[in-house]
Amino acid sequence: MDERFTGSFTQQEPIPEDGIAAAVEVMRHGRLHRYNLAEGEDGEAALLEKEFAAYTGAAYCLAVTSGGYAIAAALRSVGVKPGDKVLSNAFTLAPVPGAIANVGAEPVFVEVTEDLVLDLDDLQAKILSSGARVLLLSHMRGHICDMDRLMGLCWDEGVTVVEDCAHTMGASWNGVSSGRHGVVACFSTQTYKHMNSGEGGLLITDDREIMARAVMLSGSYMLYNRHLAVPAATAFERVRYETPNMSGRMDNLRAAILRVQLRQLSGQCARWNERYRAVEAGLRGVAGLEVIERPEKEDFVGSSIQFLLLDWPPDDISTVLNRCRERGVELKWFGAAEPVAFTSRYDSWRYAPTESLPQTDRVLAGLVDMRIPLTFSVEDCELIARIISQEVGRVFQNKAAE
Ligand SMILES: *Cc1c(COP(=O)(O)O)cnc(C)c1O
Repeated sequence: MDERFTGSFTQQEPIPEDGIAAAVEVMRHGRLHRYNLAEGEDGEAALLEKEFAAYTGAAYCLAVTSGGYAIAAALRSVGVKPGDKVLSNAFTLAPVPGAIANVGAEPVFVEVTEDLVLDLDDLQAKILSSGARVLLLSHMRGHICDMDRLMGLCWDEGVTVVEDCAHTMGASWNGVSSGRHGVVACFSTQTYKHMNSGEGGLLITDDREIMARAVMLSGSYMLYNRHLAVPAATAFERVRYETPNMSGRMDNLRAAILRVQLRQLSGQCARWNERYRAVEAGLRGVAGLEVIERPEKEDFVGSSIQFLLLDWPPDDISTVLNRCRERGVELKWFGAAEPVAFTSRYDSWRYAPTESLPQTDRVLAGLVDMRIPLTFSVEDCELIARIISQEVGRVFQNKAAE
């Protein structure tokens, strides 16, 4: 009898009890709006911003309604205008080109490597051919490119870097926290990310003007003095007249839940990595399957794992995925003909026309992706890896025998 896995790939852990208690307290006093403060009260949203700024080492932090909102606000705040071109990863998720479209700009997709990071040679070529002056860098699935080389290249070319850290909250490159290389960085606190408030986003920067604009954009009215992680009032003097209010504020209820989770984040990241390494160890050495080697300088958070069935016929990949699903293991495939659930490919984003990207096409055609919720035990992860390696092995051996 083949082993089966019975856990759920979409079940996250519950909100910690002290997070629930903090949320209940906010509900009891009723001041959910971030600017509705009692005498002497800082408010959960403002405290979250202060604490997340301290966690990342950024000077300023703004909490908003979603990661996608944070990215659009970041792009607007660095000065992206309708019709501008914005460089971004061809391998990412739909909210990334969506945020570019939100500001009326046009994505210029850059190829991805077999290590699932931005291809820096193609980036250089696309900077020159497009004339784009902003890169929205998505650390997709937590894979971080050589940030030292990337920042050098963007510095030389005068390109502003905005980081999408939806999958790298808690990660770092060469000792520098993810999100601290670019001029501004955005995080998501949607349920499937590293902290869970249902929906939510965080934006960090050291730049006074950018933060002042982002705060006004988020819908601060003239209450920016109620924030604890923003520049001094002088930064708002001109900005407050020039910046439209595009409401997207964080509320105290969600912030209360997040503050508790932030205190536990480092421990959670360690638990993710333990599970990631268990899956990786079980997949390593399987013929026909390539694990993604992680660079030494990359301190990642293994909340998901990817592997390549490079140059496999699509039908064979389908067979592996179907057999794994029958045994309870849900894998996502970036090579599927049609976009499914959260998984779509750059050529599905038809509002953003693009030239062909042969290298990315080859990688995505063989790219398999799996979430690692913390509700899985390490033993669960070992079982999952056994199921995948058996099914890959069966199809691969058949292929070899043909
Ligand atoms: C989830 C996600 C976002 C946006 O987050 P939302 O909070 O869902 O808007 C951005 N980029 C990537 C890569 C994501 O996975």
